[in-house]
Amino acid sequence: MVLTIILGVLFTILGFVFASFFGVVISRVPNGESIVRPASHCDSCGHTLKWYENIPILSFIFLRGKCKECGAKIPVFFFIYEILGGLFICLAYVQFGLSINFLFASLIVLILLLIGGYDYKTNTILDIFWIIFLALTIGFDVYRIVVLGYVWWHFLVGAGALGGFFLLLKVVFYLIKKEDVLGTGDVIFMAVAGLLLGYKTILIAVLVASILGCIIELSLIAAKKKDKESPIPFCPYLALGVFVAMVYGESIINLVIGG
Ligand SMILES: [Zn+2]
Repeated sequence: MVLTIILGVLFTILGFVFASFFGVVISRVPNGESIVRPASHCDSCGHTLKWYENIPILSFIFLRGKCKECGAKIPVFFFIYEILGGLFICLAYVQFGLSINFLFASLIVLILLLIGGYDYKTNTILDIFWIIFLALTIGFDVYRIVVLGYVWWHFLVGAGALGGFFLLLKVVFYLIKKEDVLGTGDVIFMAVAGLLLGYKTILIAVLVASILGCIIELSLIAAKKKDKESPIPFCPYLALGVFVAMVYGESIINLVIGG
């Protein structure tokens, strides 16, 4: 019991640390900057962060969200992002326990976090991201089919259904609006998500993504953090939906069928 809790705390901290590193990737890679040099610094005054100003979660709280030198605000996005990283790993651990399932699930949580955050900031998915997502998904599928006796075609149908649906959406949007609202990266991402989830739980992912997307986007518009014309990022919400479906999908289905 004590060991379970200690491991849970350690995994959560690992989630914070990875999310913090992904935050660096998200803010530097799109500008063609190195992720190692220069050391972390304030974007306003260039002040190089001391180690205690660079601790995930804690530094943001101690510094009250401001640079110690110039008082410029540190974007709250990265604070929330780090919290989500730890929370998601923790939830996956609570659900799966120390198991091969957890190993795959936590690695997939990390790549979902990276894809969602990067897309939120830049509206693009790098090819390397979905290639890693695909590789992890194939590994997880093979493990579940060979060792746990899952049915192989459930995953293929999931990929076809979810990928096909988003491909159709892309075509329809293109015909109506004459512009690419859904990128090819989004469609590939959803096909891989279907391959991960299998056809039974893909609907949960889409539902969760739609509901969360509506609530959060409308709140941002209401709070005047965003105007109505700016594009709605699909991927971050879909990544959230895929996370919920991957971790809780089977429990939700058993609950619905059982009740
Ligand atoms: Zn500063």
